[in-house]
Amino acid sequence: MTATNNWSGYFAQLGENQAFEQATAQTKAAIDGLFQHATTPYSGLEPALLKQQLNAVDFTQPAPLAEVIETTNQLVAKNSLLVQHPHTIAHLHTPPLIASIVAEHFIAALNQSMDSWDQAPAATFVEQQMVDWLCNTYQMGERADGVFTSGGTQSNLMGLLLARDWFAYQQSQHDVQQDGLPDYAQKMRIICSDKSHFTVQKSASLMGLGERSVVLVKTNVQGQIDVDELQLIIEALKAQDLLPFAVVAMAGTTDHGAIDDLEAVVDIARNAGCWSHVDGAYGAALQLSEQHKNRLKGIELADSVSVDFHKLFYQTISCGALLIKDKANFNTLLHHADYLNREGDELPNLVDKSIATTKRFDALKMFMTLKAVGVKQFGEFYDHLLSLTQDVADKIHQNPHFELCCTPLLSTVLFRLSSKVQGELNEIEFNQLHQTLRLQLLTSGEAVIAETKVDGQLVLKFTLLNPCLNSADFDSLIAKIETTALQLINQ
Ligand SMILES: *Cc1c(COP(=O)(O)O)cnc(C)c1O
Repeated sequence: MTATNNWSGYFAQLGENQAFEQATAQTKAAIDGLFQHATTPYSGLEPALLKQQLNAVDFTQPAPLAEVIETTNQLVAKNSLLVQHPHTIAHLHTPPLIASIVAEHFIAALNQSMDSWDQAPAATFVEQQMVDWLCNTYQMGERADGVFTSGGTQSNLMGLLLARDWFAYQQSQHDVQQDGLPDYAQKMRIICSDKSHFTVQKSASLMGLGERSVVLVKTNVQGQIDVDELQLIIEALKAQDLLPFAVVAMAGTTDHGAIDDLEAVVDIARNAGCWSHVDGAYGAALQLSEQHKNRLKGIELADSVSVDFHKLFYQTISCGALLIKDKANFNTLLHHADYLNREGDELPNLVDKSIATTKRFDALKMFMTLKAVGVKQFGEFYDHLLSLTQDVADKIHQNPHFELCCTPLLSTVLFRLSSKVQGELNEIEFNQLHQTLRLQLLTSGEAVIAETKVDGQLVLKFTLLNPCLNSADFDSLIAKIETTALQLINQ
């Protein structure tokens, strides 16, 4: 197996492989060191300085890999956001499970490509096995199928793409895959709540329908789509000779964590002749909790569902899936290539169901996680996380310097500084204070919290994902935010 030239030190070769062993051992030691010694979510290095140091790397002169690993450790790893830190609490950005990280080692070294069976023999079956497990978990029925994606964005795009093609065929036997958009494309409409994820609009744009084809329905105080309004809007659109073809229901909105009444939304969609898609990127994970899964009732009836494993399933980025109720709908993505997936191939080629060609073997992460952690344990993570979120919201509520913006529904806490802190500041200055506060905490490296808008008003947000945290972990974080805010106002 020895190569005939001297390049073998660059590749993870078969046979004895000292270079590979040394590099992986050095990398592992660097990461261990970082995790042992880090004390804050971010190093606190000034952004301009960080950029300058990175730009100073000279690519014209190659260096030994050992040196590159050390430089990367000093420059990149040590200035990375530490997702495990208790004060990293801004986004749906998870600390990964060990099972997922070690799966990445296999994924990277094996480098299987999921498009065809001859590039991924065991891997193809692993992905299909995970998809079948998911379809079963969500009880999507006999004809269900799915595919792994790069995350919620791709899953939402695929769901809506399949909806568009399905609708055009129902409407006029029009084949979008072959003939492009139908002549009534300008009239086609996607309906979702005003708290839906922006990827609905982005998908509409990519699909050639335009962002204006998305019609928003107002939400109730709980952030859920108003189902009566949904019904009225669909009727009104039809009365205007427009063509509503897809309804998106949210299982966990990004800010509030609101879960729509999925059963009602799917029912309305179906009666109106629309495809129903559930964006479960955040909340669909609750299906694994005995205590909370009833909140997803109706998800099993949807035509398609987006699930995101790099959020509440604690997988490394990237990892997601799209599930569909009737696998026949994947046919609109099917394209036979002579070199890859011939018609009549007996072995499965997953490219048949994917918008990607070369594709990562992310399914292995869920395969190893499911076996090492198990469904029951996931349920317990969520039960703890949701009750912890209520505790943290109580702490905010009881603190005179803060004001809770709404009762948490999933694992986010939306809050503002209270009028006590506002003092003489006008609204604009007070909003600015919130922004400055967040940036100050971020760039000093002390805490990473989020900023968003609720009903036009700027608010701060915690997104709790880490089930290892306990209520007491939040005391120092809340105190830090409080003292920083008071310092800023007294400056
Ligand atoms: C995160 C998220 C998305 C986008 O998913 P990515 O994995 O970031 O591509 C879509 N919808 C919701 C509700 C999300 O929370």
